[in-house]
Order: sequence, then C-alpha cells, then structure tokens
Amino acid sequence: MNCKLTDQKRDALDKAKSIISNTLVWDNHGCMPVGAPFGTDFLPELRRYREAGVNIVSLNVGFGEMDVADHFQTLATIRRWVSMHDDYMLVSTSADVYLAEQTGRLGVCFDIEGANAIGDLLSLISAYHSLGVRWMLLAYNLNNLAGGGCQDDDDGMTAFGHDVVREMERVGMVVCCSHTGYRTARDVLKMATKPVVFSHSNAHDIVAHPRNLPDDLVRECAQTGGVVGVNGIGLFLGPADGD
Ligand SMILES: [Zn+2]
Repeated sequence: MNCKLTDQKRDALDKAKSIISNTLVWDNHGCMPVGAPFGTDFLPELRRYREAGVNIVSLNVGFGEMDVADHFQTLATIRRWVSMHDDYMLVSTSADVYLAEQTGRLGVCFDIEGANAIGDLLSLISAYHSLGVRWMLLAYNLNNLAGGGCQDDDDGMTAFGHDVVREMERVGMVVCCSHTGYRTARDVLKMATKPVVFSHSNAHDIVAHPRNLPDDLVRECAQTGGVVGVNGIGLFLGPADGD
C-alpha cells in the first residue's frame, strides 16, 4: 500500500469537504436517465446531491433527438415530483437559490441539451423558461435546425439558430455551446450580447476529443462574461495517474 498517496487522498478529501461545506455548491448539469417514457423511479437518487452537500442542481430534461412532447413530459414529471417532496425546491430566481440554501433544501432548476426541444417554434423558448429551464445548448453532437453539432459536419449557425439565440437572450435563458460544433460556437460567440457558457466541456489541449474546447473558444467565452464548466467523464479528462 502506498501510504504517501493515501495521505494525499485524505488531505484532498478533507479539503474538498471544507470547500463544499463553506460554499454555495451548484452542479450546473446533472444528467438523469431521461427519455420516453420518463417515470419517477430514478428521482429518489437526487438525495445523493443533498448528502454530498450540493445546494443547487440543474437537471437536463432532454437531449439530442428527443422530441418536443418528450421534453415537456419529462419536465412536467420532475417538477411534480420535486414539488411533492419537502427536501427539494423548484428554483427560478436568485432569491430562490438563497432560500433553498438557507432552508437546507436541494434547489432544482433545469436545462436542455439541443434545440430539437423547440422544433421550429421560437415561442417554446419562453414556455420552457417559465417552467424553470435556465440554459439550453444549440446542437447535441449532430446538426439540427439551429446549427452544427461537434460530431457532425458543422456548417455554422443557421438563420433559425440566430433567431433562437436572440430569443433566448430576450427571455433570460443562458446560451450554452457544449456539444455544439466549432463553427456554430464561433458564430454564437460572435453575435452574443450576453454571457455564453460551455456548461460541460473540457480542454482540447489536454485531450483531443471533439467534445473538448480549443483555447480560442475558451477565451472568447470568457470575453462574453461566460464560464466553462468541467465535465467529470474520464473519456474527456484523459487517463488517471495513480490509483
Ligand atoms: Zn452533455
């Protein structure tokens, strides 16, 4: 047994616990096993966030090729379950966030992975926003009506994608470019008038994967006032060193 490594791990664990217990902790993308039909069997697993000291979590209510109805059904199902359980709270404002923290409840808001969730209807963006969806990414790996995905032949943002970004900015929904293709992400960053995020994307310089970001996108994201959230999946982080 490597005692030095064990000590290092213990120190890291203590440090992590200290940071978490003294900070408002927000996981900006918790992936539930969504898809139709979506039931409530998995939702009790949300307790793991509470037990780990997380205050707020954004749950995705759909991704990729899921259709409009499936997104709304998933969103409605989770909202109903959360509203029926005292340890959880739907959050839609910054005041809600602090209230959830102060009352020891896990605050829940929502996100969407890809503009297929709106079909060709811009009006659905404000509908999702009114139900607690606070960010949406444009294209999930593959091209869609709004633009290109990071694992497809990305031809850049479409005219409809331009309208989607404008409408998201109008209603106060954050534009995310994770899973989105390089050209489309560049187009979004160029036209954005509000902060753009990459909610869960890592550095391409460390692991050369289409899901990871070259440095120029990271810099342009920061210039909009946005942030890049780290993705914890090993495939995008590289091989682990040590045990
Ligand atoms: Zn994702």
